[in-house]
Amino acid sequence: MGRLTKYIRPYYLYIAFTMFVKLCGAVAELFVPFFMERILREGVVPGQQVRIFIYGGAMLLCAGACVFMNIMANRMSAVSSGKITRKIRYDLFEKLNSLSARQMDELTIPSAESRLTSDTYRVNEFLARGQRLGVRAPILLIGGVVMMLTMDARLALVLAALLPIIGLTVWIVTKKSIPLYTKEQGVLDGMVRVVQENVTGVRVIKALSKADYEKARFDKVNTELTRVDMKAGAITALNNPIVSLVLNLGLTAVVVVGAYQVAAKNTETSVIVAFLQYFVMILNAMLGVTRIFIMASRSQASALRVAEVLELPADLEVMPEGENVQPEQAEPPHIEFRNVSFSYTGIGENISDLSFTLRRGATLGILGSTGSGKSTLVNLLLRIYDADKGSILIGGRDVRTIEKDELRSKFGAVFQNDFVLEGTIADNIRFFRPLDDAAVESAARDAQALDFIREKGGFGAAVDARGSNLSGGQKQRLLIARALAADPEILILDDASSALDYKTDAMLRRALNKNHGDTTTVLIAQRISSVRNADLILVFDDGKVIGAGTHDELMQSCDEYRLIADTQMGTGEEAVGE
Ligand code: ATP
Ligand code: MG
Repeated sequence: MGRLTKYIRPYYLYIAFTMFVKLCGAVAELFVPFFMERILREGVVPGQQVRIFIYGGAMLLCAGACVFMNIMANRMSAVSSGKITRKIRYDLFEKLNSLSARQMDELTIPSAESRLTSDTYRVNEFLARGQRLGVRAPILLIGGVVMMLTMDARLALVLAALLPIIGLTVWIVTKKSIPLYTKEQGVLDGMVRVVQENVTGVRVIKALSKADYEKARFDKVNTELTRVDMKAGAITALNNPIVSLVLNLGLTAVVVVGAYQVAAKNTETSVIVAFLQYFVMILNAMLGVTRIFIMASRSQASALRVAEVLELPADLEVMPEGENVQPEQAEPPHIEFRNVSFSYTGIGENISDLSFTLRRGATLGILGSTGSGKSTLVNLLLRIYDADKGSILIGGRDVRTIEKDELRSKFGAVFQNDFVLEGTIADNIRFFRPLDDAAVESAARDAQALDFIREKGGFGAAVDARGSNLSGGQKQRLLIARALAADPEILILDDASSALDYKTDAMLRRALNKNHGDTTTVLIAQRISSVRNADLILVFDDGKVIGAGTHDELMQSCDEYRLIADTQMGTGEEAVGE
């Protein structure tokens, strides 16, 4: 919890007051057996019956005060812990959003999800119950012992002798269970991952009849989770029986020793009765303390996992411009890659020594086999990842020197496998930006989406989560409209028209040409027809550019390009759809 102190600090006073109220409640509770003992001792004496009412009233008062203060403190603890957790969750969410792609790769999304949900929940649980049980249990424990000592020190010693044994049990159990609970949280991450993949891929899983395989996979993590949980449970379960056993043995000893003491007239029967009550109180308090320890250890593991993310250093810092001054150029190219190399994992390069320039308003077409590094180029250009070597310039400025918001505002992008939101069609195109209806409509027109939007019932028509009520091509057009809507400087279409028929694809390109002529476009495609009019076409293979030039140049110079052209278009010259 230590690393989350800054969230708790503003509530110190409030929490202190909560604990004080809880403390008063616990003290009131302690006096109930005390007054009962008085009744038994003094009230039964003939002629003193009035004391029954006095002490009885005091007992009632104590019990009432105890209930009232407990309720009050419990409510207060729920308020402070709720507010603290809300802030932690908020900051965690914000932090997760600010992480670089590389940090997210390392953290993994399922882990981020369980940190945001179950881990913060555990922290919340500890904050709330810690304020309640954490005060009540020790007060009842220590108070109970003190009360017993004042009533009959010799008898109380019987109990005091047992405390070290109990303390040791609690210590061993806690020490053994903490690592197990930490591990459990890790296994839970794995489970979230499997479920998430299953839900996301439910169609393909069904289509490929992989349901059994998925079940087996889920079964595996589920079993592992159960195993760890059972192991942790088995250890913590030792707590209650051992503590109960020891305390009840102590109770027997008190009764035996007490009987001799009463016989020897060293103590009163009423004291023994009060002792029995205190014993039950102490027993429960003991169990409460162990529960606190276990909860503390579980939530400690969770707090660490939350803090770990919160304390991640900012990645992809913006560099001062001075460090990377470029020689003045009259009109720098709009986009320039200079000897860029990059690797996701540090093993093998996913982009090697890539250089090209693109003037403003030009179109770059990218072709290449799967996994050849096409999307990686986009990731580098948007600075989702930083290049390992070389530099990437936009308008003559290194992307590393441009503020993130400024950089991102230059782009309109459709990523490969991009997602649509649950909401209306207009929401999806607008995407939280202050765009008027005319801009939304003209973007939709350029994206060739008007037809299907009309069919669906206009811009107010609902889009289901993940766009499940849209066809692949409709989804792509919606996404293209979103990318165009803010009239970006640079448009990126990563495999964004693969589901469009040739005719629509051609119409889209014509609209882009006509209405977005100043927009520099990066167009990743599978089809030659999509890129054949581009000013520059790069052919990728395994992170390297094996051909660069216009369509006609590549037909001459690049064998691979010609091969693709032949397979797609019969002979490369019979253009389709233009
Ligand atoms: P496709 O046509 O299938 O979209 P692509 O050319 O866009 O392929 P990239 O996504 O750029 O391919 O991937 C290039 C290589 O980098 C691939 O080998 C891929 O496995 C790897 N790669 C991509 N993203 C990551 C990542 N986050 N972590 C590690 N490796 C990655
Ligand atoms: Mg790709």
